[in-house]
Amino acid sequence: MADQKARISFEFFPPKTEAGMDKLMNEVNPVLNALNPAFFSVTYGAGGSTRDTTLGIVSAIRANGIDVAPHLSFGGDDESAVGNLLDTYRERGVNRLVALRGDRPSGIGRSTHLVYARELVEFVRQRHGDHFNIEVAAYPEIHPEAKSYDADIQYLKGKFDAGANSAITQYFFNVESYFYFLDQCAAQGITQPIYAGIMPITNFANLQRFSVNCGAEIPRWICQRIAAYGNDQESIQKFGVEVVTQLCQTLLESGCPGIHFYTMNQVEPTREIHANLAL
Ligand code: FAD
Repeated sequence: MADQKARISFEFFPPKTEAGMDKLMNEVNPVLNALNPAFFSVTYGAGGSTRDTTLGIVSAIRANGIDVAPHLSFGGDDESAVGNLLDTYRERGVNRLVALRGDRPSGIGRSTHLVYARELVEFVRQRHGDHFNIEVAAYPEIHPEAKSYDADIQYLKGKFDAGANSAITQYFFNVESYFYFLDQCAAQGITQPIYAGIMPITNFANLQRFSVNCGAEIPRWICQRIAAYGNDQESIQKFGVEVVTQLCQTLLESGCPGIHFYTMNQVEPTREIHANLAL
């Protein structure tokens, strides 16, 4: 059985359609909330493209008395726009944030300056002191743009030094990459918790495409196994649940402080994996 005290959280993204929004708020959120997570989080589209929908979902979840963390980046915004958004979140009872640099929206040239997450953490702390609990992103398989393994950890340390409370990782399937990363972080003086971000396997073709961009490796044996199932979605889902349950079990039994599920706005397979873990 996994560690009883493990922190569990669930991530949503803002749906593009009314039907998607309806499903998220009336079906997915209540069902996953019954699993008693520490909080939900809601992503922020590249360049602030989902500013209003992220705010809307966060406000609706918070109005039900549930803890929720908006993801936030400067995107193309100036300090006054980000400052106003922070003030609104605070007025609505939000006291958590996931602070990010974010990526460029597609079609925007590389010359666009992106504000590093560390600067956003500093900005939030300057304006709101300790009001917000701030999570930042961490990369056990190293961020694709990082200069080197050690440099990426140094920049993560910079985010903690600026006042972040904890980190959530990019998803990974190689458990060793996570524990090696924790050791390297500890060696560089990081003492804050680093929670494992876990991606249940839903749409494998999308997952493969996305993994190439974000630098997460899907082990060859998983790809081979799934390829062998062809179009048999039921077997793929079943295998995905087994693999990800095993990954979570190993993590929790080996000292990982908790798991953040990238739910992809679906109840299953997150609920099934959670049930298997008997948390
Ligand atoms: P940073 O920590 O700022 O680092 C970005 C890169 O720059 C790294 O390679 C780092 O090594 C390097 N770096 C940092 N500081 C410096 C410096 N001073 N000088 C030179 N190099 C530096 N994206 C979204 O658009 N919306 C979301 O809601 C979202 N949610 C996420 C949630 C989690 C848990 C994770 C893990 C990622 C999420 N992302 C999201 C993706 C994230 O925005 C991208 O991975 C982005 O490319 C990096 O963001 P960051 O906050 O990690 O950046």
